[in-house]
Formats: sequence, structure tokens, C-alpha cells
Amino acid sequence: MAKRRRIRWDRILMVFGPLLLILILLFSRCGSSDDRKKPAKEPKAEQSSTIAEESGAVPDVTVPVPDQTEPAMPVDVQTQELVVVIDPGHGGNDGGALNDANNPTRFEKDDNLNLALAVEQAFKKYPYIRTIMTRTDDSFVELNERCRIANEANADFFISLHRNSAVSGDGVEIWINNDSGGDNTMDKMLAQYIMELLDEVGVSNNRGIKSGFRNSDANRESNNYYVNRYTQMPSCLIEMGFMTSDVDNQNFDAHLQEYADAIAAAVNELVTDRRLLSTDIQP
Ligand SMILES: [Zn+2]
Repeated sequence: MAKRRRIRWDRILMVFGPLLLILILLFSRCGSSDDRKKPAKEPKAEQSSTIAEESGAVPDVTVPVPDQTEPAMPVDVQTQELVVVIDPGHGGNDGGALNDANNPTRFEKDDNLNLALAVEQAFKKYPYIRTIMTRTDDSFVELNERCRIANEANADFFISLHRNSAVSGDGVEIWINNDSGGDNTMDKMLAQYIMELLDEVGVSNNRGIKSGFRNSDANRESNNYYVNRYTQMPSCLIEMGFMTSDVDNQNFDAHLQEYADAIAAAVNELVTDRRLLSTDIQP
């Protein structure tokens, strides 16, 4: 009796087996067409768990989000717009440094203003950066007024433009606050980014980033440049070459626009690298 039953099942399988296979194939095709209507997220989850299974790892049901796996960057500000104050040193009665003390033909105040105006134009490339000038013509502005303009605007960066008054020497240097008044990390970064791009344009001598004040004196209230000390945001003071250096003056005239572009590009790079802007308008 048992033998007869076995033969019967074999025959049934032989007849219906191929039919069952066809049915299974048809069903699986219907299933995959349904999958196509599902959100794109789900097949990805299936894929990742399959890979995990193949590699012997415990399947992870959570889909990895790329943003969370990226290295964490320090974020200082998240805003739609950044404000940069451009401060052309001296002006009006205050001519600043001269190319020649006995027979001056070139005044620092003019070079500072020309560079500042070019920097202001260069920043127009970056719509999320707004600039404020502490002066736009040959007028005298007090140091405390320059700081007040920046502080009242709640600016994000303050960049003072000068040329070196020392009698001998050549090259570009950038001054920042020393850290006696607090953390000067961002000041240092601002100066480093700017110096790197100025150096790429070409300077006679990269004199580096310096902190404090050139004529440091223990009796002074502050051993920092006034505008660095009394502005409440990261700041730096660029000495764009020596007024008494012919090569620096030639560089200044030949590369004015490139230097201006470099300063604006450096700020933009810093803003991008540090993610200072709101993510939806991040460049
Ligand atoms: Zn100066």
C-alpha cells in the first residue's frame, strides 16, 4: 500500500512540478514590479543588509546617513549672511607711512583705500557675504570709531588694511590679537587663510602671522593693535608690504586686484571650511 502511494505522489509532482515553477516565477515577477513603486529608500536598505549578511556581519537594518558619517566640524555660527568689515588704515590728515620721508610721493592711506575698494568689489562674488567699509574716501576716521562700526554691526570678521611703516625690510605680515584677551583661534585661522592665498599670488617675502603689537611695551594698556583689541569679532591687520620697499610697491601696484581677490577668497574658504553659514545656502 505504501509503495502505491509513493508512486502516485511522484506522478503528481512530475505533472504539477513544472506548473508550480511557472506559477512561482510569475509571482516573483509581480513582486518585483510592486517594489518599483516603493520609495527608493527601501531597495537600498535591502541591499545594505544583503551585503552585511554576505560579509558575515550582523545585518544592520538602519540605513547609514552620509552626513552623520562625515567627520564632525566645529561650528561657530549658523547664519544666512556674514558681515565683513573692511578697514582701510589712516586717511585724511593721517597719511600713514611714506615711501620717502624727505620727498614723499606715495602715502599709505591711499594704498590702503585702493586695496580696500578692490577687496570690497572682490567680495561681491560671494552673495552671502556683506561688506562694510570704515571709510570709502580720503577722510580721517578715529580708531575707536572704526571699532564701533564693526561692533554695532555685529560683524563676523574685521580686516584692517595697512602698509608697513618700518624704514627697512620687505614682505607681507599679518597681525592678530595675542591670546591674553582670550581665545584667538579664529583670528589665527583668518590670518592664515589670507596669508596662504596672498602668498600664492606672490609676495616678496612671507613674514608670517604675528600676534600682539610691533612695538610691544610693558607700559602700554594693550600690547595689541587697537583695532584688533577693541573689535569684538575675529580680526586681523594686514601689512601689505613696506612703503619704503621698491619691490613691495611694484608688487602692490601690479597685483592689487589679485591681492584683493585673494583676501575675499580666503574669507570664503574659511566660511566654507568652518561651515559658518546655514546649511541650505552653504556654498
Ligand atoms: Zn598703517
